Amino acid sequence: MTEQVGVVGLGRMGLAMATTLQRAGLEVQGFDIAAAARDRAAAKGIEVADNLAALLADCPIVLASLPDDAAVTALVEGPAGLLDGPAGRLLVDTSTVEPATSRRLAGALEAAGHAMLDAPVSGGPAGAEAGTLTVMVGGSEADLARGQPVFAALARTVVHVGPSGAGAVAKLVNNLLCAAHLLTNGEAMRLAEAAGVPAARVLEAVNAASGRSAVSEVNMPRWILSGAFDSGFTMGLMRKDVRLAAKLIEAAGLEAPLSREVTARWALSAERLADEADFNQIAALPAEEG
Ligand code: NAD
Repeated sequence: MTEQVGVVGLGRMGLAMATTLQRAGLEVQGFDIAAAARDRAAAKGIEVADNLAALLADCPIVLASLPDDAAVTALVEGPAGLLDGPAGRLLVDTSTVEPATSRRLAGALEAAGHAMLDAPVSGGPAGAEAGTLTVMVGGSEADLARGQPVFAALARTVVHVGPSGAGAVAKLVNNLLCAAHLLTNGEAMRLAEAAGVPAARVLEAVNAASGRSAVSEVNMPRWILSGAFDSGFTMGLMRKDVRLAAKLIEAAGLEAPLSREVTARWALSAERLADEADFNQIAALPAEEG
C-alpha cells in the first residue's frame, strides 16, 4: 500500500515535486508557510493541509523542499514540528543544507523513533516537473528502500552516496563545481568573442570536446546566450550553496585556492545581482564584477 506523502515547502521545486508525485499515483498533501504558495498549490490540484501538524498527522513520509538550514530545523524541532508529532515518520529532505545540520537532525529524529534521509536534488524545477531529477542520498539502505516510491516518481538517477550527511556533501561539491563553471564559462565565452569568434560557434565545438560541462551544454545555450535567464534557480540560493561549500572547506581544513576565488566572486555578486535574479546571470557579468 502506498503511504501518503506530505510535501513541506511548495516553492519552485516543492510544488513541481508535489505535482509529479501526484501524477505518479501517490497520495499527496502539501504545506507552505506562505499563503500565496498554498494558493498556487491548491490551484494545481494539490490538497493543502491547514497547518503543519495536520500534514504530519496524516503523512508517514514527509518530503521537505525548504530554503535553508533554519527552515529544515524548524520543521524538525520547531513548534508542531516532527519531534512534536506522531512517531515513525520518514523525512526525505531535498533542501540544500549543511551536512552537519542533516546529521544532527537525523540523530534527533532517530532517537525519537523517526528516520531521515538527506536527499538533495539536481535538475531544477524542469527536472522536478518531468520526474528526471538526480537525487544524492545520505542515510541507511532501509530508509532508502522505504522512500523508493518517492524517488521512483521524481528521479532518473538516485545515488546512495553514503551515511547521513553524505548526500548533503555531494550536493555542495556539485554546486561548488557548477558555480565555478558558470564563472569560467562566462570568461571563456568572452574570450571567444574578444578573439573574433561568436560564442555560440565556439560553444558548439566545446560541447563536442573536452572542455564541456553541464553549464556549457545546458546553461549556456538554454539560459545565458539565449538571454532567457528563466531557469527557476536564484542567485540567492546559489550564493547560499557556495557559502555552505566554503564552510565545509574550512571545517575540513582544506587548502582550496580556486574555490576561495569562486566563493569571493559569488559573494561580491550580491552588489550587482539581487537574490531573486536567475543564477545564470553571473556568467554574463563583466569580468571585474563577476
Ligand atoms: P523557493 O524559495 O521557490 O521555495 C521555498 C518555499 O519554502 C517557499 O514557498 C517558502 O514560502 C517555503 N518555506 C520557507 N520556510 C518554510 C517553513 N518553515 N515551512 C514551510 N514552508 C516554508 O525555493 P526553491 O527554488 O524551490 O528551492 C527549495 C530548496 O531546493 C532550496 O534548499 C534550494 O537550494 C534547493 N534546490 C533548488 C533548485 C532550483 O533549481 N530551484 C534546484 C536544486 C535544489
